[in-house]
Amino acid sequence: MIRVTAVLPQSIAAELGLQQGTELVSVNGQELEDFLDWEFLTAEEEFVLHVRQPDGEEIEFEIERPLGESMGISLEPARIRRCANRCDFCFVDGLPDGLRDVLYIRDDDYRLSFRYGNFATLTNLKPNDVRRIIDYRLSPLYVSVHATDPTIRRYLLRNPTAPEIIPQLREFAEHGIEFHTQIVMSPGVNDGAVLQQTLRDLYEFGSSILGCSVVPVGLTEYSKHHLVREPTADECRAAIALIEERSEVARSERGINWVFGADELYVRAGVELPGPEIYDGFDQVENGVGSVRWLQQRIETLSDGLHGWDGKKIGVVTGTAMAQLMPMVLEPLAKITGAAFDLIPVVNTLFGPTVTTAGLLPGMAVQQALKTRRDLDLALLPGESVNDDALFIDSMSLDLLVRSVPVEIRLSHDFTDVLQVPVPA
Ligand code: SF4
Repeated sequence: MIRVTAVLPQSIAAELGLQQGTELVSVNGQELEDFLDWEFLTAEEEFVLHVRQPDGEEIEFEIERPLGESMGISLEPARIRRCANRCDFCFVDGLPDGLRDVLYIRDDDYRLSFRYGNFATLTNLKPNDVRRIIDYRLSPLYVSVHATDPTIRRYLLRNPTAPEIIPQLREFAEHGIEFHTQIVMSPGVNDGAVLQQTLRDLYEFGSSILGCSVVPVGLTEYSKHHLVREPTADECRAAIALIEERSEVARSERGINWVFGADELYVRAGVELPGPEIYDGFDQVENGVGSVRWLQQRIETLSDGLHGWDGKKIGVVTGTAMAQLMPMVLEPLAKITGAAFDLIPVVNTLFGPTVTTAGLLPGMAVQQALKTRRDLDLALLPGESVNDDALFIDSMSLDLLVRSVPVEIRLSHDFTDVLQVPVPA
């Protein structure tokens, strides 16, 4: 059963009399578990919908609607599937106490992997989940592999019952499911020869594995430092060499690069980022893989709309990781717009200075950095630094930030999304 949270006026659902609180019980006699069932079972033009109204009345509707027309309802969010692992590098273990409860949830949900590109380990799948992935063709999935050797993977996941990943992927691949994969590299565990073997196994698996990223372990002050550490520059350089080795094979055999290092891997290694051509379709840009090259491309492609900034001064707030790479983006942007960009790297006061990701910036630290910046015409913040409720990781609201600093603030994902509209003269 899924509950309706809102009904659009003049929609099919409104005509049927569905309302907030209506329970969607089944479609064509099949019980509904979550949004996936709803979307896939109602994909046809005709279906029978069984609902329970808030007053307890049960009704069956024979629906007939033009293909593609929405029913006009919002559904309650699915209950997130919890993770069955306990990785030493888990972000949740690296959180300080006292944050929002939801941040302490270890989610590992194949549905979110399909819908939003969240990485899942597939270690908590039940037979019904396997059936749904196959029946609904949930492809591509984003899978955290880490290591193909079952013993090493179980060690990394701290899950002695984790199923072997290769047979698991094979079963899905036989039904047409494709995968984007990632390896979170923990030095001394799955780097070196293990990384080489994992890349070989995944590559030789065949074309169902669309690509693989290698991301260095990232820790906070609160992480389990007695059990796991971040890789050194030499270890990152060694990983880059293995990536290039495998990528060369992929290029000559399949005409694609197939394996990519996260931008962070290059920063830590002190190695220049590769060119944009190595990222294939930028499929893992949300995972910090090729972000800088992707930004450069976006800016170049959309440069025509970025007018009206001549002589303006724009502050760019970012985490300290991106701050090292950001000049590569801001220099061309300054040439195109005529604006002067002032990079404002913000040290993470909540997780400690080792956490350099822009998405985890506390609102308080941003406020501190901007509170005297009357010299700026505009300040840009990374779009991912607030959640859907416009809250920073420390629960400070964007609204409060906006009211407490002397400069206009805009959230941006790629600069071009907010620089199309100049600030008032
Ligand atoms: S898979 Fe590992 S890192 Fe991800 S949520 Fe579970 S324990 Fe944390």
